[in-house]
Amino acid sequence: MLRFGEARDPSPGPGEALVRVRTCGVCYHDVLMRQGKYRDVRLPRIIGHEVAGEVACLGPDVSGLEVGDRVLVPTWLSCGVCAHCQERQNELCEAPGRMPGHDEDGGYAELMCAPATCLTRFPESIPWDQAAALPCAAATALEAVRGVAGVKPGDSVLVTGAGGGLGVHATQLSRLHGARVIASTTSKHKAQLLEDLGADHVICGPAEGLAKSVKALTGGTGVTVVIECVGTATFEASLRSLAAEGRMALIGAVSGDTVPIKPAVLVLKDLTISGCSRQARLTDVVDLVVSGSLRPIVSRTLGLNEAAEAHRLLESRESFGRIILQT
Ligand SMILES: [Zn+2]
Ligand SMILES: [Zn+2]
Repeated sequence: MLRFGEARDPSPGPGEALVRVRTCGVCYHDVLMRQGKYRDVRLPRIIGHEVAGEVACLGPDVSGLEVGDRVLVPTWLSCGVCAHCQERQNELCEAPGRMPGHDEDGGYAELMCAPATCLTRFPESIPWDQAAALPCAAATALEAVRGVAGVKPGDSVLVTGAGGGLGVHATQLSRLHGARVIASTTSKHKAQLLEDLGADHVICGPAEGLAKSVKALTGGTGVTVVIECVGTATFEASLRSLAAEGRMALIGAVSGDTVPIKPAVLVLKDLTISGCSRQARLTDVVDLVVSGSLRPIVSRTLGLNEAAEAHRLLESRESFGRIILQT
């Protein structure tokens, strides 16, 4: 259940910054949080982990940030105090990562706290609504495409759920890394938009015919890479769409549902399936946007008091790209 109301202002502890949230992306993770699908969550919880905002004030022992800086909050927070974090090598932090909006209060709010060393500054040339598409949607897509799947020239990439928040960015990034891109969506009206983002082919329709269509577009061999942004509904079709020695990066399957797998298919075709919950460095994502190589795609911007409508829109899968809440 979602409830809109007043909460006490948080105050930053040592090493933390208080961020005035300007925009927060709406992720399917938030829908699953609302539905009570995660048993490790303590309620009540302010959800939201895709935050762009301004530094409102600094706690003790913070350097390198100033009040008014435009910052992105990452999807995973490191401790902020160990030697790695002090060097801004947050990914090397050995403390367990905490997800804002899940393990602690997050971005469906006007204010939130985060370790200052986790925050990434970004320039005014990136508008607030687009900025909120970067910490999760674009950064996860970049990690999956560049890091996990290692997409390179010569690859053919199938992106499932290509019209969603992850998919619109995975489509652009696969193309940027030199691949031929097949975008799959169930919504006909998204086909032209996906071609505009660089998809070489768009397959519209349910999962049933997907593998057959992919095979037809690849001379019967299948694709070398799948960026699986949907999860259970398309998983089997994605697996059947892979060529021998193909690799799948799985980024959209966080619902906890199960899928049938024939292990023999993995063995005989030498397939690799890798999950990816990590995000690329936000400085890399910001650089791609500033240089014009990546367009953050936002479908709708709604008020914080319209979060329920944002969830309804996300669940209907009508929207193209990320839905954003604005404070
Ligand atoms: Zn997210
Ligand atoms: Zn640390």
